[in-house]
Amino acid sequence: MSNSLVLVINSGSSSLKFALIDTVVGDAVLSGLGECFGLPEANVSWKYNGEKKEYALSEGNHHQLAVDRIVALVDELGLKDDIVAVGHRVVHGGEKFTSTVKIDDEVLKEIENLSDLAPLHNPAHVIGMRASLAAFPSLSQYAVFDTAFHQTMPAKAFTGAISRKLYEDYGIRRYGFHGTSHYFVSREAAKVLNKPVEESNFISVHLGNGASVCAIKNGKSVDTSMGFTPLAGLMMGTRCGDLDPSIIEFLLKKGWSQEEVFTELNKKSGLLGVSGLTSDCRGIIEAMENGHEGATLAFEIFCYRVAKYIGSYMVALDELDSIIFTAGIGENSQPIRSKILENLKIFGYREDEEGNAAARFGNRGIITKPNTPVAMVIPTNEEWVIANESMALLHA
Ligand code: AMP
Repeated sequence: MSNSLVLVINSGSSSLKFALIDTVVGDAVLSGLGECFGLPEANVSWKYNGEKKEYALSEGNHHQLAVDRIVALVDELGLKDDIVAVGHRVVHGGEKFTSTVKIDDEVLKEIENLSDLAPLHNPAHVIGMRASLAAFPSLSQYAVFDTAFHQTMPAKAFTGAISRKLYEDYGIRRYGFHGTSHYFVSREAAKVLNKPVEESNFISVHLGNGASVCAIKNGKSVDTSMGFTPLAGLMMGTRCGDLDPSIIEFLLKKGWSQEEVFTELNKKSGLLGVSGLTSDCRGIIEAMENGHEGATLAFEIFCYRVAKYIGSYMVALDELDSIIFTAGIGENSQPIRSKILENLKIFGYREDEEGNAAARFGNRGIITKPNTPVAMVIPTNEEWVIANESMALLHA
């Protein structure tokens, strides 16, 4: 294990996820979560060797206290000296960051400057980075961007059909997110097919609480469904996805405040809004099986919209090696994948029921019948990408 550990940090506004990744084996040695920052119940919990533990944080700067606790923890576990780098997940790199970078003052400032584009995420990342830089002053630290993989999109895919001035003045364009996930699963899928990724073409479908589709041509992102923000594209757990923008004006004229409208579209829509029940896919499926009308409609819309995006991305590619399903729903939900494939029957997709049933709970596998177009399940591993990219730059 010596000299192979990278600490991966994903700092949010009131939480901080972390994992210690062994870059040789590819596994998380330790993983944990700091939660409820800013509240009296702020705590850090972690899993090590199958055992779960929790530690209450005292009053103060909870990001710093959480990182300090992680430092003490890795020291207690005898792992501290094996950590060679820290990799930070950053949601928005704008057009500035097209790949992973080493964090210095200039980079911190640039990430902060991009807060306009990701007000909920980038400031929280910077707080976590500063805490980590203070806690691990001798380690090189890296920023890995969710948007970077999509910076290869052509202008026709990232430019909105609006005045160019809005792009020039404000940077309004499609950026795309979940880049580390689409990157990882496309590399793994190429290995499954025994093809160089540079010659492989995929439609990667990340279906978690957040969801996005990505068209990947010769290993590069050429289009993706999330846009200027992660609100665009597919129906999600609580997000509406694509929507006629006039609805916003309509609701504002009806007396809704700007905040109410955006809370509605970000937090009360999607599976939750349509079902009136839950944003959790497992709850939707269970309720549907019990005949719940809202849950059934939510399931139908969700699968129909994913299939429509897949169909539209056939246009972005000349050839397609495989559809790839990933993330919480994509990796686990047999009925969702089954329905999506059924919706794609015009393209020749035929579900292999046994394959679909087997590809769950971390198992990868092909879920379509032999001699029909291929769809497969590949569990994602964003932490592994962040750790590996950090390691690669450390040794560059
Ligand atoms: P993620 O954001 O990738 O963690 O994915 C969260 C989503 O995955 C939630 O909607 C969960 O309901 C869904 N999910 C997790 N496990 C399962 C499962 N076994 N079957 C169906 N959906 C699942």
